[in-house]
Amino acid sequence: MLNKKTVDDLQVKGKRVLVRCDFNVPLQDGVITDENRITAALPTIKKLIADGGKVILCSHMGKPKGEAKPELSLAPVAKRLSELLEQEVVFAKDDVVVGENAKAAVAAMKDGDVVLLENTRYRKEETKNEENYSKELASLADVFVNDAFGTSHRAHCSTVGVTEFVEESAVGYLMEKEIEFLGNAVNNPERPFVAILGGSKVSDKINVINNLLEKVDTLIIGGGMAYTFAVAKGGKVGNSLLEEDKVPYAQEMMKKAEEKGVKFLTPVDTVITKEFKNDTEYKTVPTGEIPDEWGGLDIGEETRKLFADAIKGAKTVVWNGPMGVFEFENFAKGTKAVAEAMAEIDATTIIGGGDSAAAVNQLGYGDKMTHISTGGGASLEFLEGKELPGVVAVDDK
Ligand code: AMP
Repeated sequence: MLNKKTVDDLQVKGKRVLVRCDFNVPLQDGVITDENRITAALPTIKKLIADGGKVILCSHMGKPKGEAKPELSLAPVAKRLSELLEQEVVFAKDDVVVGENAKAAVAAMKDGDVVLLENTRYRKEETKNEENYSKELASLADVFVNDAFGTSHRAHCSTVGVTEFVEESAVGYLMEKEIEFLGNAVNNPERPFVAILGGSKVSDKINVINNLLEKVDTLIIGGGMAYTFAVAKGGKVGNSLLEEDKVPYAQEMMKKAEEKGVKFLTPVDTVITKEFKNDTEYKTVPTGEIPDEWGGLDIGEETRKLFADAIKGAKTVVWNGPMGVFEFENFAKGTKAVAEAMAEIDATTIIGGGDSAAAVNQLGYGDKMTHISTGGGASLEFLEGKELPGVVAVDDK
């Protein structure tokens, strides 16, 4: 159970409530191409409106690095949010975020009104969690709600610093849901519990592997990080992705799995090419036998079956990181096989954000999963067993 205040614990009638959302949505020429993060924020916003709060929303967008970059303005989000909420969302266009426009917009608010501030990262203090900017943000509000799971692993002014200068703080519904699903899966899983890790770098996932080995019945490793494990087993991987300095760690993890009785599955065959592109000659070889000048871009057919079979018997599955270069159609089969196996089973299935979430949605399996996290990095840190600063900073119940 989460011991933090939630929006259900607040009395917001007539109060100014600053809500940190994660509206960091992909934009193409000013058009939002995936609005999942906006719709995910609606339950908290609607609740605060219904309770008569003055709802002041804030978020970052991309990496403007402390400068007012017009292409990273939140203006398109305000427009879409107005449509989704069916009420006006006043956009406080302000290069300094908490400037004259923001102050005037907040001063004019009536109960149930909504204002959206400009990109919090237009200010360089944001990512350094500097006190002056935290105070400015807090000066607009009485109460603070953090509903930005995707940035809760970062201690910034709008996620952590601001909590010190408001009367009260709480987590939003999205944050609560993320913590509940990820937390239950990792700490209280129905067994068998299978975790699948992929993606490009072992070094990014080092701590997750170590932590998950304490919890899972089966750990599956695919994607670019699998080649480091293939080398750790004495194989040859040609010019596939390899983190040579992590080979001893990979060996250590395989030994730990054996000691703990955890089934540790790595690819047995690999789809290889000479060039890193979609339209090129490819063939399948055993994983540890990749010739020089060839590199692996996906798991092979036998591995797809092996992984799918392991997933079939599971009651809880957590997945983070694609099985191959799924952005290339020819090398998306492994990622697809895992998504398909997860979609078919009667189990709690959780996608840990980032690329795997994109892949699952792109392949059309989104609605077949129990929970797709909105935070890639945050969900990974959560799986590592780390406390998220954005959650820690919120008032205890
Ligand atoms: P990550 O950000 O660590 O989750 O990695 C995601 C990226 O890993 C995706 O862009 C995939 O294309 C890439 N990836 C997965 N498998 C491979 C592979 N065998 N070789 C190169 N890149 C890969």
